Amino acid sequence: MAKLKTIAVITPGGDAPGMNTAIRAVVRTAIFHGVKVWGIKEGWWGLMHDNLVELATKDVSGIINRGGTILHSRRCPEFKDKANRRLAYQNLRAKGIEGIVAIGGDGSMRASQIIMKETGLPVNVIPATIDNDIPGTDYTIGFDTAVNTAVEAIDKIRDTATSHQRLFVVEVMGRHNGFIALDVALVAGAEACFIPEVKHNINQLVKLIKAGHERGKKSFIIIVAEGAADSHKIVAELQRRLNIEVRLTILGHMQRGGVPTALSRELACKLGATAVELMIKGGGGYLIGAISDKICCSPINKIYKAKKQIDLEQLRIANMLAT
Ligand code: ADP
Repeated sequence: MAKLKTIAVITPGGDAPGMNTAIRAVVRTAIFHGVKVWGIKEGWWGLMHDNLVELATKDVSGIINRGGTILHSRRCPEFKDKANRRLAYQNLRAKGIEGIVAIGGDGSMRASQIIMKETGLPVNVIPATIDNDIPGTDYTIGFDTAVNTAVEAIDKIRDTATSHQRLFVVEVMGRHNGFIALDVALVAGAEACFIPEVKHNINQLVKLIKAGHERGKKSFIIIVAEGAADSHKIVAELQRRLNIEVRLTILGHMQRGGVPTALSRELACKLGATAVELMIKGGGGYLIGAISDKICCSPINKIYKAKKQIDLEQLRIANMLAT
């Protein structure tokens, strides 16, 4: 097997805290093994437009704890067009790039699968998205940070909710799934949690709040994943039915940024190093994840269409502990 000489690293999708930690791990591992690394800037759009920079060890200094991505990202629907992808492939060939490490979510994984099929180049994907919706790994890089950011905010909301005996609806990110909402609800002690995977029942929620009031409960926090329901409508409905003041807080993009937690960084360091070392050994086409604390490499062609299932047992426990 010929020695791998040149690879590229890219962050093509939504940013997540810990992506920079993963870029650093990829660059340092490659250089340690004598492999040259190109950073593709602005996602697949940057590859189509030849926006690549060679990365040296010093270029990734001081980024281990920085949110976002130094490579920047840019949505690129044009990449779905084969003619545009050909342009991108020419730029890869011109730089002698023999493999890619893509750091991102399910869209990045789908694009990676297409690139491998069309070019035969190996691509290893490191799962990085706050959504945690990637199969083949228990957690994605950035998820733990997003959960901690939301929990910190909700703890503060709880203080004011208790002082004023108010009900707060807090909307967290999660357009298609409730991974963030469910974790946040459990560890922030929310009274209820609405997620897209489970049909919500407003009658049951009204009953639960009334029963809580009778027991002398001082505050209520209801977590709503953004894709589960229209949180404005929930607030209006609760206000009408309970005749109490209900406040809405939408946490929004603050969940995407910030200093990555130790867990997000640990995952990024380990998965970044593994993605490169596996490629050096001839292994390409893998989603590099961690299951039960062990690094686990799953063939992308087997999992890129799979849907990660939410743990409904966790919802049961969260609800039970909130009563
Ligand atoms: P994420 O990786 O966070 O899920 P996206 O869904 O935006 O982010 O995907 C990242 C990029 O991958 C898109 O901007 C697009 O350029 C490319 N991509 C996603 N799906 C496809 C596809 N089916 N075919 C070609 N390119 C795709």
